[in-house]
Amino acid sequence: MGKGHVDPRIDDKLEELYRRHLDAEEPTLAKYYTPGRGYYPPELAGEERDHFGVCLVSTDGQVYGAGDYELRFALQSLSKVFVYGMALCDHGRERVLENVGVEPSGNAFNSLVFDERYNRPFNPMVNSGALATTDLIAAEGYTEAWERIRGTFGVYAADDTLEADEEIFREEMRDADRNRATAYLMRSYGMIGREVENTLALYLRQCSIPVNCQDLATMAATLANGGTNPITGRQAIERPYVRDILSVMYTCGMYDFAGQWAYEVGIPAKSGVSGGILAVIPGKFGIGVFSPGLDVQGNSVRGIAVCEELSDRLGLHVFANESEDALLQA
Ligand code: GLU
Repeated sequence: MGKGHVDPRIDDKLEELYRRHLDAEEPTLAKYYTPGRGYYPPELAGEERDHFGVCLVSTDGQVYGAGDYELRFALQSLSKVFVYGMALCDHGRERVLENVGVEPSGNAFNSLVFDERYNRPFNPMVNSGALATTDLIAAEGYTEAWERIRGTFGVYAADDTLEADEEIFREEMRDADRNRATAYLMRSYGMIGREVENTLALYLRQCSIPVNCQDLATMAATLANGGTNPITGRQAIERPYVRDILSVMYTCGMYDFAGQWAYEVGIPAKSGVSGGILAVIPGKFGIGVFSPGLDVQGNSVRGIAVCEELSDRLGLHVFANESEDALLQA
């Protein structure tokens, strides 16, 4: 799928945005992450320093991309958004809330601390929460659950060929000590009920799906469009649950930067350790950004900068009050 050049003025603005952020200083750059290698400092980075793409997909199906917007990277934590949606569709709000809360945790994404008051993970955007939602996917066994996850992600992205990268998956499984410990601890608390190794593998397999910025922006645009993919017209999630997902993204989606993000950028978003960020402007468009250089919180440095600027220039903050045609004026 190429990009639909609908309004060259927007293309030009995006290209200009991309170029400026590609060349900008990155004072908050702290680390990179690669499956199998783990975190490593910026001085050990190679060509990944320059990897950077951004894509916008509107709710009427227009696609605008700049830079490496077709370069693939592992979905990682971004998968949590969509599996949470599946659990909601399968069981409804009340039942899902019994197993996973909607409170920002104030702890790291891979923390072993749970909401003791309710005996559940704090929210579905941390690893323990994603293990809980993955455990809830309605299916007879591993294969059926995986096919459902893969298929649903494909509807969001308008790409039925989305599949895990087996090499990345193997690396994730090899380095899974902490996630495995989390899953077993959760079982001991009665927070997950299925075969632990299956739930763990389903979680890490969803993290291992390669996507590009256009996929991310399309997935975000599907959420912006009430759950129906604006390119294919296929429904990825029932409309009432989109609100739940966006609320949790807004409060918990950006690691330990979530509060500041909500304050400064003011749009529901989720980031992952591979350097991807997806952001949703309800009723308008979805944003997908990728650049693997991370700050101390684990968010993409260029990804944050681009979203901050887009929010500012287009008046996207949920509590801002800007005119409708800001997209062209900015
Ligand atoms: N596979 C990673 C993990 O579970 C994803 C983490 C992330 O992107 O936040 O540790």
